[in-house]
Amino acid sequence: MDPIRYTLSFTAPHTHYVEVRAEVPTSGQSEVELMMAVWTPGSYLIREYERHVEHVAATGSGSTALSVTKSAKNRWVVATGGADAVILTYRVYGREMSVRTNWIESGFALINGAPTFLTLADSHARPHEVTVMLHSSWTRVMTALPPLADKEHSFRAATYDMLVDSPILIGSPAVHAFEIDGRIHRLANEGEAGVFDGARAARDLESIAREQHRFWGSIPYRSYVCLNLMTESGGGLEHCDSAVLMTSRWATRTRKAYVGWLELASHELFHVWNGKRLRPFALGPFDYEREVHTRSLWVVEGITDYYGDLLLHRAGLTTREEFLASLSNKIDALQTTPGRAVHSIINASFDAWIKFYRPDENSPNTSISYYIKGSVVAFLLDARIRRVSSGRRSLDDVMRVAYEKYSGERGYSDQEFRAVVEEVARARFESFWSSVLEGTGELEYAEALDTLGLRFKTAEPEMGKTPRKATLGAVMKIDGGRLVVSQIRRGTPGHEAGLNVDDELLAIDDFRVRPDQLDARMEQYVAGDRVSLLVARRDRLISLDVVLGAEPSKSWQLEVDPSATAGQRAGLDFWLAPSGNPVRTG
Ligand SMILES: [Zn+2]
Repeated sequence: MDPIRYTLSFTAPHTHYVEVRAEVPTSGQSEVELMMAVWTPGSYLIREYERHVEHVAATGSGSTALSVTKSAKNRWVVATGGADAVILTYRVYGREMSVRTNWIESGFALINGAPTFLTLADSHARPHEVTVMLHSSWTRVMTALPPLADKEHSFRAATYDMLVDSPILIGSPAVHAFEIDGRIHRLANEGEAGVFDGARAARDLESIAREQHRFWGSIPYRSYVCLNLMTESGGGLEHCDSAVLMTSRWATRTRKAYVGWLELASHELFHVWNGKRLRPFALGPFDYEREVHTRSLWVVEGITDYYGDLLLHRAGLTTREEFLASLSNKIDALQTTPGRAVHSIINASFDAWIKFYRPDENSPNTSISYYIKGSVVAFLLDARIRRVSSGRRSLDDVMRVAYEKYSGERGYSDQEFRAVVEEVARARFESFWSSVLEGTGELEYAEALDTLGLRFKTAEPEMGKTPRKATLGAVMKIDGGRLVVSQIRRGTPGHEAGLNVDDELLAIDDFRVRPDQLDARMEQYVAGDRVSLLVARRDRLISLDVVLGAEPSKSWQLEVDPSATAGQRAGLDFWLAPSGNPVRTG
């Protein structure tokens, strides 16, 4: 099939536009219909990208203007006038700073496939070629798309899916390259600005990649590019042969921020196997024009998040304490989210489109994150498999067997993934699935902790402080110098007393509380005290009586149990030791 040939130009990038020219083969038809994706795979929200498209026009042979008519919110019909190919032109506005959208400015442009390219609605399988005309202040184009041999800054995607799966960074990034088993890896840092330590990040990314290659035992890509943008924002998005990360240029300057960056880079690289190639039925080939639903995001995101951190530690880049702290923070986030009693993880996965990607002030009360609960479930599942197999097998084996079985075109169903777990563990997991995946009851940690010789730290009161600090249980924010309620979690004193989101807290027991005084004022009370709050709700003053509660006493911070047996210690060490597989290449 003849390719669609696109040319991207940036004549005035400071106005945030990319101009697109596309040579579209007509296959002799009198009309062709073009579509634009309405969402980006990996990020489950209908984003209506077509709203940023302007001036769609077409010409046929001899530059005759052709009629272009919209046929759907994201579709256009072009009357071809019998031409073999039509020249389509349009411009796209791009100023949404995220890993899945477009950002165009004088410094650089991040071009994603879904929000940029109109394609023939009925033939996604044809090649799509892209030529980039660089703005004079830019030096290079970075993308996972293979270059065209005879044309500068030109690339060829074998299909529309590959085009969408291959974001393009155009600017002047610093590029740090390394090779593992003949595969070129590139870390492209846009905006290092002499602050972000690119060389160190590339060295550590190499260690991560080597550990992940050992884990899986094979490398599915010929080359990999990590597009790392210092945009002072966050997020990551995985692709078959690349990833986009957004971070801070200061991310290599403090240990905490750097561990966060390493975890993100590790997470996105793990997706090359889990999520992109080993994937549920629904996640490819994609329907780009409507929601696709899966119950398996606990596998795609939860297991990836668990291993992102674990393999970072196995690669020697975080300490045992740092790894346990990351896992503990996820357990803590789950155990302090009331929505865990409402929303099962498979429903959280199914509802990603209407819940996870559309959060509001009530979200913590009604839903849980399949990232957070998914990584906790992965930890419990890993420990369960290790326990029932007396330490001989683990979730590592499950992932490798699942990859062997299901990384082809077809994908897997949630039931098929569960069957792989039982096959590897040689045990039935029905009660685990029904309670942990399908249920909303509390998770049981005792067995996993016992298996790995871990325990939760006991929370000890600080010297000289009341052991259980009094609290309203409301999440507050400072808004224009006002102290305002931003979230009310179910079951807290504020929830019981009728405190509302957006209430401005003015006084407690007739004394003014300024925004920076709330913590100190709470120290005047103990749990169980009854206080009167004065709040302003839409400018009307309201008095509320509240019985103060106690700050949670339970600690969800993991530590190695000092009384662990030699057997438990061995299990712990084996869990955290580098993956021991030979890597098959070729
Ligand atoms: Zn992910």
